[in-house]
Amino acid sequence: MRDQRLFPLFQPLDALPGIGPKLKPTLEHLVGGETVWDLLLHMPERWLDRRPVDSFENLVPGDVATVRGEVHSVKAPYNDRAPTRIEMYDGTGFLSITYFRADPRWLQGQFPVGKERIVSGRVEDYRGERQMSHPDYVLDPAKGELPPPVEPIYPLTAGLTNKRVHASTIAALDLLPEGLPEWIDPALISKQGWPDFKAALSGIHAPTQWDEAFTQLCQTRLAYDEALARELTFANARAARSLRPAPSIPAAPEALNRLVKTLPFKPTGAQIRATKEIMSDMNEPHPMRRMLQGDVGSGKTLVGAFAAVQAAAGKFQTAFMAPTEVLARQQFDTLDKMLSPHGFSVAILTGRDKGKKRESILMGLADGSLQIIAGTQALFQEGVRFQKLGLIIVDEQHRFGVADRMKLASKGEAPHVLVMSATPIPRTLAQSIHGDLDVSVLDEMPAGRQPIETRAVADIRIENVIEATGRALQRGERAFWVCPRVEVDDEDGSSAISRAAMLKDVLQVPVGLVHGRMKGEDKDAALDDFRTGRTKLLVATTVIEVGVDVPEATIMVIERAEGFGLAQLHQLRGRVGRGDRPSFCILLYRSPLTELARERLDTLRRTDDGFEIAEADFKLRGPGDLLGKRQSGLIDYRLIDLNLHGDLIMIARQDARLAVERAEAMSPERASALAILSQLLSPDLSFSD
Ligand code: ADP
Ligand code: MG
Repeated sequence: MRDQRLFPLFQPLDALPGIGPKLKPTLEHLVGGETVWDLLLHMPERWLDRRPVDSFENLVPGDVATVRGEVHSVKAPYNDRAPTRIEMYDGTGFLSITYFRADPRWLQGQFPVGKERIVSGRVEDYRGERQMSHPDYVLDPAKGELPPPVEPIYPLTAGLTNKRVHASTIAALDLLPEGLPEWIDPALISKQGWPDFKAALSGIHAPTQWDEAFTQLCQTRLAYDEALARELTFANARAARSLRPAPSIPAAPEALNRLVKTLPFKPTGAQIRATKEIMSDMNEPHPMRRMLQGDVGSGKTLVGAFAAVQAAAGKFQTAFMAPTEVLARQQFDTLDKMLSPHGFSVAILTGRDKGKKRESILMGLADGSLQIIAGTQALFQEGVRFQKLGLIIVDEQHRFGVADRMKLASKGEAPHVLVMSATPIPRTLAQSIHGDLDVSVLDEMPAGRQPIETRAVADIRIENVIEATGRALQRGERAFWVCPRVEVDDEDGSSAISRAAMLKDVLQVPVGLVHGRMKGEDKDAALDDFRTGRTKLLVATTVIEVGVDVPEATIMVIERAEGFGLAQLHQLRGRVGRGDRPSFCILLYRSPLTELARERLDTLRRTDDGFEIAEADFKLRGPGDLLGKRQSGLIDYRLIDLNLHGDLIMIARQDARLAVERAEAMSPERASALAILSQLLSPDLSFSD
């Protein structure tokens, strides 16, 4: 399928000169791929300006600079540990070049007294004097030698130098085929003044002159290439979806109104907006693929329940899937309490339901007597058959990969899918990652929420925190205590197991413990004990990150908070402040904090708006960190920088949709150009629909 012209690019890395069996794995690791093309996608993090500076006088310590001057003297080291010093003079002043443990004969060849030399390297200030030690280049201007005017500086890994990576990249550029057809709309190219594809890659990896504006044009051109490739993939997935039939499930306003009347609160405007969007999607005879995004506590479950009611009213079944047993059970409790009184049949199925109980649930699903089923992935295992599955709701989808999502969507007869995410993602990012989905946002919190006071406390003051927690427990409140690890073999006692023992000892209250290594039943029991108040304090790892709802809990202590992601901390904090008493979140940190860690904890203290936090984290650390490791695979951008290229994505989306709509009328040349682009840059997601 691959265009023959691209074959040279998809060779293994050891096809490049200088890359043998030893360097190959190191380079593969560095570039995150195995081909020459992957190397070309390994972008410099910056460019070094090696143009000569006019005089020694203008040198700035800390900068890398290139200067020209005359060798004035070479002074041998006065002892073993001192450097050889070469004094250079350029009419405006002196510059010392220093070499430690250098061969004197070699040095004399490099720096003949009275001759001119060009040196390039980092300028230092040594006791008030300009100095450069071990310059990167020493060149002879009489021979016309000059350093490269611009040098790309790459992210590196142990075992590879910048020179090596750069040389390989230049060799890789030679393998770029000539005369690839242009895939970007010519009008856009000329409007933006973009270079062609090959020129853009050369401009990045082998610039011939220092020209920041041009470098930027090269970067944006390539970012657009990637955006266009992604959006083409998404547009094709959408087009395919709009051809697939799905049951049209009409809106059921009466049933919804009846339900709303029995709620102890009024739905927020955002909940109503999202519900309307979902209602009209489900009414279409094509599968819905919608993401419902909303901060912790924004009330996503209710919106999901509304959708389930619409399905049930239309005689379709709903599968409501949660990432963990505990959450599935909580989801079930909520749905059961809310919907059973209205005559809907609600049940739960997880991997732990066995024997007779499982049999009867499977029967209910198969004969259609069960309308709404909560559960874990177990819902989609072999042997589970639905009579008429109309809607799949996936809660906290960031725990599921795109592949899971796609697999799941292939179940049943092309049902509607609603995924719910509590990771507040900046909108541009959301649209770009979830390009295959429509997005609804709950951007309004239910009224009457208690603000949570957040404090960052150094862990040397842990005793004060324990005391304060003890006082709150005596007032009848409950507290979460989150630890970074489970194991016992810790030096500082911050593992969940040893912390639980310690707190029980000090506070003399019933303490629960829940962590990821426990069996499902035990986890549930621990959470249940805490919910019902049999335990007052729950020590946990991040298994409680999502969803657990205990209104009596007013204190959230997070140990080693500096090690958690900002979004994750925000999620954890959202476990408190759900009742009517004032709540606190204590971020215990280990000093000294890095600048970045301090800034993140500050952000968290300053605001409890999940979207603001997401934006902040995004700016501080980029999208990978915001989403956590599990999800960073979703934003496998190689060339796009969302901070810079958000608008390009929007343009690419329009272009891609237009291209897919007019595919029939497209010239074969353009079709083949777009195909080449897709082979180079389409995202590595397997769409099953
Ligand atoms: P999340 O979006 O984190 O899943 P939930 O659906 O668990 O949020 O809702 C959090 C809490 O807010 C629940 O106790 C729920 O009953 C309550 N809730 C939901 N919608 C509203 C509303 N419109 N007004 C007041 N409380 C609400
Ligand atoms: Mg939820």
